[in-house]
Amino acid sequence: MNGFDVRDGELVIGGMTLSALAERVGRTPFYAHDARRIAARVAEVRAALPPAARLHYAVKANPLPALVTHLCGLVDGLDVASGGELALALRSGGQGAHMSFAGPAKQAAELEQSVAAGVLVNIESFREVPLLAAASERLGRAARVAVRVNPDFELRGAGMAMGGGPKPFGVDAEQVPALLRAIGSAGLAFEGFHVFPGSQMLHGERLAVLIEQSWRLVQQLAQDAPGPLQHVNLGGGWGIPYTEADRPLNLLPVSQALAAVQTALQREAPGARLVIELGRYLVGEAGVYVARVIDRKVSRGEVFLVTDGGLHHNLAATGNFGQVIRRHYPLVVGNRMDTAEREHVSVVGPLCTPLDRFAERVALAPAQPGDLVVVFQSGAYGASASPSAFLGHPACADVLV
Ligand SMILES: *Cc1c(COP(=O)(O)O)cnc(C)c1O
Repeated sequence: MNGFDVRDGELVIGGMTLSALAERVGRTPFYAHDARRIAARVAEVRAALPPAARLHYAVKANPLPALVTHLCGLVDGLDVASGGELALALRSGGQGAHMSFAGPAKQAAELEQSVAAGVLVNIESFREVPLLAAASERLGRAARVAVRVNPDFELRGAGMAMGGGPKPFGVDAEQVPALLRAIGSAGLAFEGFHVFPGSQMLHGERLAVLIEQSWRLVQQLAQDAPGPLQHVNLGGGWGIPYTEADRPLNLLPVSQALAAVQTALQREAPGARLVIELGRYLVGEAGVYVARVIDRKVSRGEVFLVTDGGLHHNLAATGNFGQVIRRHYPLVVGNRMDTAEREHVSVVGPLCTPLDRFAERVALAPAQPGDLVVVFQSGAYGASASPSAFLGHPACADVLV
């Protein structure tokens, strides 16, 4: 079921039946992330990447420290998006020399912290150049920098556009030559470029085209670079299926496009690294969110399973995290997997708002209070991307198993 085994009528997560896992965690609701599935996904991605390419993990997808530590042993580096994530990544076993830092509104203290830790800073604004120069001067080491480019091509096929058109992320391609001159005059250690066109892309052929377009843009911009090209980061954004209408990403065209980039890069800038930084794709499918049924109510003929978990922990699964169309994530009654009978129910959370709803009239095994509802595809943009203070319910547990 969604890649998880079933034993004794229960879903198996991290080798444990769901009820045993719930006992071990000690309370509901909770997130559980399957370490072996994450490792298997990393191996799958590695097989699709050119052997010389580096794979980074984008911490914002899931900053659970145990999970970040697990990934540190599997990938080649981490991408962070704030001083807080940088500190967490360092505490969790990441090495500054293998990290990059992207994000708008980077503040002086965060940039200093990055220079001190030897992190590669993806510059997204002219404003960052004098701040990095000052930090380099004070710390006695030149800031390592790359330019995050807002591409000039149009983006199609992403769930969430991060580049193309007017954007607060990165520097418009047409302004990059001037930025490269500023980087050169400030004496920063230029390494390369970062292009991240969008998130939740499920169309392999379109993603392959974006990779080719991004690479051509990098080739063109590199002509104005103040130093040799050493680093080309073509972003993350590989999507996972959330509903039955979604098809999994076809990696074949992506793999072919990256192989072509790697060959060209090797020819034009021998020794330069090609980096892919993935968040959702590495962890999204390995995580579940588990909530207990507190009440079963019938209102004018509609059955409601009211659970202790809701949008305050898993905003995305309720369709409220930037999704255009509100659709529910796949879910099951995880301790009744052997029941063939189905009833149509709506699954809601404990918050006093109609937004707090995981599913509307879905076919599930008939459930009673005490049963455990499992929401799949919950490993990315979960707890840390949800308004946990809303309505004052307790925080959820979050474990790697
Ligand atoms: C969010 C983000 C990622 C990861 O995006 P996914 O869609 O989860 O793969 C990668 N790089 C940067 C700079 C990001 O901001």
